Amino acid sequence: MNYDLIVAGAGPAGSITAAVVAQAGYRVLVLERDASCRSPCAGYISSTINIELPDGCIIQSRIRKMRTYFPDLSFHDFQLSGFLVDRPSFDMALATKAEDSGAEIRWKSPLIDLAAGGVRFRDGEASGKIIVGADGVFSRVAALLGLERQRVAFCAQYHIRGIELLPEPDTCEIFFDANYAPGGYVWIYPAGKDSAKVGLGITGAGTRSPHEYLDAFVSESPLAERLCGERTGYLTGALPISGLRKRLCYGNILLVGDSAGMADPITGAGINNAMLSGEIAGRAVIDALEDDDMAVLGQYETRADMLLGRPLARSLEKRRKLDCCCTSNEMLQRHLPGLWVTFREYWT
Ligand SMILES: Cc1cc2nc3c(=O)[nH]c(=O)nc-3n(C[C@H](O)[C@H](O)[C@H](O)COP(=O)(O)OP(=O)(O)OC[C@H]3O[C@@H](n4cnc5c(N)ncnc54)[C@H](O)[C@@H]3O)c2cc1C
Repeated sequence: MNYDLIVAGAGPAGSITAAVVAQAGYRVLVLERDASCRSPCAGYISSTINIELPDGCIIQSRIRKMRTYFPDLSFHDFQLSGFLVDRPSFDMALATKAEDSGAEIRWKSPLIDLAAGGVRFRDGEASGKIIVGADGVFSRVAALLGLERQRVAFCAQYHIRGIELLPEPDTCEIFFDANYAPGGYVWIYPAGKDSAKVGLGITGAGTRSPHEYLDAFVSESPLAERLCGERTGYLTGALPISGLRKRLCYGNILLVGDSAGMADPITGAGINNAMLSGEIAGRAVIDALEDDDMAVLGQYETRADMLLGRPLARSLEKRRKLDCCCTSNEMLQRHLPGLWVTFREYWT
């Protein structure tokens, strides 16, 4: 099998790269490890960059406000604009778009190795002029390139129904408390009537597992009363918090999305950046194929750095401060405005 482009991973970064390149008429293969899209996620997507939600994606709520709680439960409100999506339906809709554009997707086909002029996957081999690693935080492609593993935050999330949401159902809530989410935070994202995704991310500083911290939060925290409902879903996952990788382009191989370290090291948000990187990687791939010159792929690294380099570097700097200065609730209470994106102090 001969392809112009082989993409490892059918998450947002991979499916968008594949769709952009296939739309231009090139032969594209997407290798996906799983039988369907199921990246663990809360599903918040910011509408600050112009994102078109794909047909078939289930929108669970419209978000217009973020309420951030300090450890003493005083809070700060901030207007923002975004959506909460059902993540599997969102990713499947993007994968379908890639297929409709002409890309071929092979499910249950993890990329195993990079070979001269192509790849090896579980059931076979394929040759491709360009390879894109869109295989997430524990990227096999990055490992095969000999790159360092990224630092990660570990997360756990319940979907709980029959709970008490705030009177404004378009508000997502964020809690900082070192006893329940050391090095991270707890989120409550409204996901329809009386229903929310309640989750947390921790950075390894704590003594318990994310599951144990989450159980403690929903059963013992000052908010526990509001959260006793029926738990209808549970997931765990990880996201990168070490910031943008220094290099994103290795000859004919590119890294996009989480495999490139594009999730925000403080908020953990990575969907928007994954989509953006898929777009710009796709365009660089088209230019390189048109010119038959792999050196053109370097444009992707330059553009990604131009768009994402500064915000991710700022966030990484905040992450370092959070790690060293905010290990107790007293410190968090004092320093949070300088460390969280909804406060003016974060940006000054
Ligand atoms: C619990 C949790 C909640 C989150 N909540 C949010 C949120 O609300 N908003 C937000 O913006 N971000 C959130 N994130 C981060 C977000 O999920 C990621 O940043 C985003 O999914 C990155 O997209 P991606 O396409 O780079 O990678 P992924 O979505 O991880 O996709 C990678 C794909 O590659 C596949 N794969 C892995 N290995 C191989 C292989 N060897 N061969 C082939 N395929 C492979 C995987 O199966 C997967 O389908 C959350 C993360 C977690 C863990």
